[in-house]
Amino acid sequence: MDFSLSDELATLRAAVRTFVDEHVIPNEQAIILEDRERRTDTLQKLQQKAKSEGLWVPHLPVALGGRGLGVMGMCVLFREMGRSPVGAKVFNCDAPDQGNMDLLLMAGSDAQKARWLEPLCNATMTSAFCLTEPAPGAGADPTNLRTRATRDGDGWVIDGHKWYSTGGGAAGVLLLVARTSDDPKEGATVFIVPRDAKGVVHVRDFATMGEELLQHREAELRFEGVRVGDDAVLGRVGDGFRLAQARLVPARLTHCMRWLGLADRALSMCREYLATRVAFGKTLAHHQMLQRMLAENARAIHSGNLMTAHCAWMLEKGDAKAARVYSSMAKNHVAQALCKVLDDAIQMHGGLGYSQDVPFSTWYRSARAARIADGPDEVHDMVVARDFMMGRVDLLV
Ligand SMILES: Cc1cc2nc3c(=O)[nH]c(=O)nc-3n(C[C@H](O)[C@H](O)[C@H](O)COP(=O)(O)OP(=O)(O)OC[C@H]3O[C@@H](n4cnc5c(N)ncnc54)[C@H](O)[C@@H]3O)c2cc1C
Repeated sequence: MDFSLSDELATLRAAVRTFVDEHVIPNEQAIILEDRERRTDTLQKLQQKAKSEGLWVPHLPVALGGRGLGVMGMCVLFREMGRSPVGAKVFNCDAPDQGNMDLLLMAGSDAQKARWLEPLCNATMTSAFCLTEPAPGAGADPTNLRTRATRDGDGWVIDGHKWYSTGGGAAGVLLLVARTSDDPKEGATVFIVPRDAKGVVHVRDFATMGEELLQHREAELRFEGVRVGDDAVLGRVGDGFRLAQARLVPARLTHCMRWLGLADRALSMCREYLATRVAFGKTLAHHQMLQRMLAENARAIHSGNLMTAHCAWMLEKGDAKAARVYSSMAKNHVAQALCKVLDDAIQMHGGLGYSQDVPFSTWYRSARAARIADGPDEVHDMVVARDFMMGRVDLLV
């Protein structure tokens, strides 16, 4: 096993790290405050700078403005970007656009790519992925899907109700999963729906435990007789569940990459406090219970790195089907590791940790979603247990 990076990737990693340290982190607060007023001045300035330095969508093909680095390249660079909650957006590598771009790239026709993928790659438009519905519709179990697309003449009419369509309020385009038949495997289809299509109703952006930030605003949408043509079908009719899976496996892994970056930054921020704060005659760093806390979290981040890199390597080789169970393991491990690191960072900083003078509590509130979004912990554990029982998991790879 060779863990060394190519010269190109090592150079890019250093460039992204320096960019995040010198430009993103110092402007983090400005971007967040502007975002509350729905302004993006600082963000756009940094996006231009990232473009001019050749760090824009680096995983995407050169023809789309990237560097064609693939999944392993993503793994290295997205961790660096994830060290700031606004980092990925600066490089146009944030969810949900990044996963939607990948899906359009994989399954879109030339015309669909020209109309929707190019503006997403240039960040002149944003997107949302609409699968989840309020109960009793699609949730942890996507086969509960209720939103329906019915054949009408040479097109389709869509009726349904979605929520947790992240970024759906401001998006230019929605990738929507709708039921097109009652076939258990081939009963769903992905439609590309312009957000301004007649009948798309933005009910509200609803408040959650986490803070709204950039595209991370949760939308509730209604689809009331929305008419689209055959050119709105992504892939084939009946491909919906397969495409949703094809999007979600790498998309949840890219979440892991970004979460690892934030976990690493949070744990690094503990160093200074532990090294300088004195209690009971010695610095906190000399107290064994805190040493154990540090070690446990360092171990969790490192093992998360290895799990994520292993799964990224499988995806890069084209083993998407076999990678699924490893992506479930990585997703649960890293989501829980991030929550634990942030909870422990609050603990290690005492009252300061609980205050808003440091960002841990804000980050924790957003991070808690990691154990629910893109499939809750229990569903991923169910997949791991099932595949293990079927002898499909090689734990000694
Ligand atoms: C911040 C955030 C962003 C999101 N963004 C998007 C998005 O952009 N697009 C989108 O389509 N969706 C999005 N989601 C929705 C997300 O994918 C769903 O919330 C998730 O799949 C769970 O579905 P549900 O909320 O309906 O939970 P339910 O299906 O109601 O499940 C509730 C709970 O039951 C338990 N459970 C479920 N199944 C099992 C099982 N088999 N065994 C044991 N326990 C089980 C779990 O603990 C689960 O949390 C987002 C969610 C969050 C929190």
